[in-house]
Amino acid sequence: MVRMKGVRKSFGSLEVLKGIDLDVARGEVVCLIGASGSGKSTLLRCINHLEQLNGGRIWVDDKVVGYDLRGNILHEKSYNDICRDRTQTGMVFQHFNLFAHMTVLDNIMLAPRTVLKQKTSEVLPRAKALLEQVGLADKAKAYPRHLSGGQQQRVAIARALCMEPKLMLFDEPTSALDPELVGDVLTVMRDLANSGMTMVVVTHEMGFAREVADRVVFMHGGQIVEQGPPSEVLGDPQHERTRSFLSAVR
Ligand code: ADP
Ligand code: MG
Repeated sequence: MVRMKGVRKSFGSLEVLKGIDLDVARGEVVCLIGASGSGKSTLLRCINHLEQLNGGRIWVDDKVVGYDLRGNILHEKSYNDICRDRTQTGMVFQHFNLFAHMTVLDNIMLAPRTVLKQKTSEVLPRAKALLEQVGLADKAKAYPRHLSGGQQQRVAIARALCMEPKLMLFDEPTSALDPELVGDVLTVMRDLANSGMTMVVVTHEMGFAREVADRVVFMHGGQIVEQGPPSEVLGDPQHERTRSFLSAVR
């Protein structure tokens, strides 16, 4: 589903991704871990065309997401192509960024209606089913300010899913939540993983990574230091950097 080859990304003189090679298979769940500043968010953003690469290539579902050094889109990809590709990837952020002036249901239906030009009659059943799936069927008419952070994040997940993406990217989806609200969000993510969704999840929830991830990838300083099944990377890390990171987060 995702193939990254030699991906480089700099901000000014700061090189943040130093040649990333990473493949994610269809249906695979990859948890990306590493210290703050190691480049995890930037990596996710590159996958979804939110950053221009300074080198390397990315393919999502066999479509290239690369740019050359001048920022020209490779393979003569038009802006429209990029927008279309982007609709196939759902992204969930630490801060859920729901539209405050719209009900939960309208938040979920907005992108399918405006971007995919789907009729309300077509989107509504799907939106309602997704609200059910994230355990918020009774909140359809509520406004975001009346929901807890955990509920808002579950709405944000439903909103992303309503675009029927092939790939879901999560960037620390539970980091901004009070501890007692984390579990419900992780349950939704676990169910999604079990349903066969391809997922790349940046998280500090090691329990989730151990239980749900097919593979854990540890990043440090813009590079992948170590990756493998959770039992290996979390249970028996080979690199000193991984060991010290894990002892710090545990
Ligand atoms: P992580 O998600 O692992 O904490 P990030 O990918 O957010 O790491 O950031 C990696 C590094 O890149 C950090 O040093 C951060 O300050 C820097 N960085 C990220 N985005 C930008 C940006 N838009 N402009 C300048 N520096 C950035
Ligand atoms: Mg980050």
